[in-house]
Amino acid sequence: MKALVKQHAEPGLWLMDVPEPETGPGDVLIKVLRTGICGTDLHIRSWDGWAQGAVRTPLILGHEFVGEVAAVGADVQDIAVGDLVSGEGHLVCGKCRNCLAGRRHLCRSTVGLGVGRDGAFAEYVALPASNVWVHRTKVDLDVAAIFDPFGNAVHTALSFPLVGEDVLITGAGPIGIMAAAVAKHAGARSVVITDVSESRLEIARKAGATLALNVAEHDIAHAQKQLGLKEGFDIGLEMSGRPEAMRDMVANMTHGGRIAMLGLPAQEFAVDWAKIVTSMITIKGIYGREMFETWYAMTVLLEGGLDLSPVITGKYGYQDFDAAFDEAATARSGKIILDWTV
Ligand SMILES: [Zn+2]
Ligand SMILES: [Zn+2]
Repeated sequence: MKALVKQHAEPGLWLMDVPEPETGPGDVLIKVLRTGICGTDLHIRSWDGWAQGAVRTPLILGHEFVGEVAAVGADVQDIAVGDLVSGEGHLVCGKCRNCLAGRRHLCRSTVGLGVGRDGAFAEYVALPASNVWVHRTKVDLDVAAIFDPFGNAVHTALSFPLVGEDVLITGAGPIGIMAAAVAKHAGARSVVITDVSESRLEIARKAGATLALNVAEHDIAHAQKQLGLKEGFDIGLEMSGRPEAMRDMVANMTHGGRIAMLGLPAQEFAVDWAKIVTSMITIKGIYGREMFETWYAMTVLLEGGLDLSPVITGKYGYQDFDAAFDEAATARSGKIILDWTV
């Protein structure tokens, strides 16, 4: 089968013929239809410091996908050949305290699909049945392909109750934009999203943000004034991993404000801890999705009319992966889809 492989420990990706994945009795073999390109994949392509530490070559990339079940192992129940499925990209150990308690998203030995083991940028991918999400309601194939990052957005946005609240999102990458759409759909009073890319802010406006603020021009206090807020934001969703964004967020939270943090900082940085203490702010780290409560929430949000179409801004056949990756790497685009059926 064709697969997009990190073949050598150097920048680049290689489209190659490789053997189809082997499956055990508990596994599902999936014919991949469409995939989403993630920042993780860009790191692996460019072979930066993170990728050099996290990846062993050769590796098939990719964790965001939708596909059709091609075969199921003897022990697999409730999943049938022909089912439309996506996959939870975090494979958990099943043995640690949190796994045993059913809190699988808190597993201490998670292995990432397309990072720690072969992924979904291929004609076929194999997954344990416990990582397979069957789409039992009608869903757009491009949206189904990005259920993994959509799940990051939903998990972060719904970490704290936000009905009637004023929500601040720092970072208008695809996940920040999806989180804005989710927060608005779920009943936030206002959703302010910040970035320095005008084209991404424009996508965020289309997705439903109340105010999309270019922080190269105005700081967040300016957004507060514009919306007539007097006491600060109730909920913060940090999506950028950037020190200045976190600092500006902390400075603009209300007393008792709550921050969910998905953006992954590249290194340690200082924040105003005294402000966090005296404003009694809660900070929660988010990694991945709740299995499978987030997946359930994603499905019902879409059923309820949540529209993610503005966030999908590019689509390529898998042979054109280099152009697709280049577009995703501009940091101006929304989500880029690779089609594996062309
Ligand atoms: Zn991803
Ligand atoms: Zn575990």
